[in-house]
Amino acid sequence: MLSKLKNKVKFIIQSSHICVLIIISIFLNINFSFSNEDLCSLKKPNSNINETAKIELGSDINCIEKRVIDVLIIYDENIILNNVLKDNIENRFKEVNEFYTFNYKIEWKITNYQKFKFNKSIDNLSSLFSLHKDDISQLTNNIKAEVVLALIERDIKGIGIAATFSNVAMVADSSSFNNYINSVVIAHEFAHLFGAWHTQRKKDFMLFSGANNLSASRESNAILKLMRDYNFDPKTIINEDTILNRISRLYKRHHAKGEIDPVARLLTDAGNSLYQEKIYNESIKLLIKSNKYYGRWGKTRMILSKNYYELDMLQDSFTEYTRAIFFGSKPDKKHENKLKKKFIDLQKNDPSIKNPFELNN
Ligand SMILES: [Zn+2]
Repeated sequence: MLSKLKNKVKFIIQSSHICVLIIISIFLNINFSFSNEDLCSLKKPNSNINETAKIELGSDINCIEKRVIDVLIIYDENIILNNVLKDNIENRFKEVNEFYTFNYKIEWKITNYQKFKFNKSIDNLSSLFSLHKDDISQLTNNIKAEVVLALIERDIKGIGIAATFSNVAMVADSSSFNNYINSVVIAHEFAHLFGAWHTQRKKDFMLFSGANNLSASRESNAILKLMRDYNFDPKTIINEDTILNRISRLYKRHHAKGEIDPVARLLTDAGNSLYQEKIYNESIKLLIKSNKYYGRWGKTRMILSKNYYELDMLQDSFTEYTRAIFFGSKPDKKHENKLKKKFIDLQKNDPSIKNPFELNN
């Protein structure tokens, strides 16, 4: 009886030792993983964008190296950059950075302020942006900045604009950028530079209209985390189908209603630049590729139509022009008349040629 009792006591002591050991080992383990910095170094981003894409979505952002993005601020030549305005801008950047550092470990750092001659007669931000975008984009060539933020301090239609995957964002305000909303707009436009699209999520900073919150939905986080190391140079990703397909898949997964696939935006913008440079065949290739990602964008169809016109592929030019209008583009009367005239001229030589503009059948 006594020996049985002894055995029981022995068993309890042994078991409690095991328990203590387990508790100690768990404790040590936790301590070990907290102190092991190498766990984080495994997830350091790589400068190669395809490598970057391998960062798992939702992975611990604390384990990723902080990225500092240098920003050049440009402002209208008739604005006086006094201390009040400068303080306001810096306060906006503090708010933007709090949000970007917490979510993406990104810090936007103003490295320079520069005056710029903006057109004064334009009354909406979108046209002002289209007019100056290419010139502004070049400003980073000679100075230490990756991104340019243009500040328009006057009454103008629109509060912010940016070209997807570019290095240019533009924001407007007539009260010296002294409001939290200005921070939301800046954060929102910066996100477009990584390819982020508009969402329909009320509290999201990428809300399609009237975003007033510095918080991010899963949808916006997904694209920002995928592209956080992007270098704002579209040429480096335009031929990288793996990354383009990943971006497009994210966009499709989230059903961004009414939003154009950011990959189509990228390809159409590049196709448009080639069209301006008169490299029509290459432009057509990019535009057709753009249509494969998103075929319902009038802008792509319109530029395609103009390319076909230049190559004398008049029937294709007509087809794409009608598609452009069908998918919401404004008619381009100058182009339309040129195309009409070409058909009329051709008919003079060969009456059997049908002019598709003549709807008398
Ligand atoms: Zn936007």
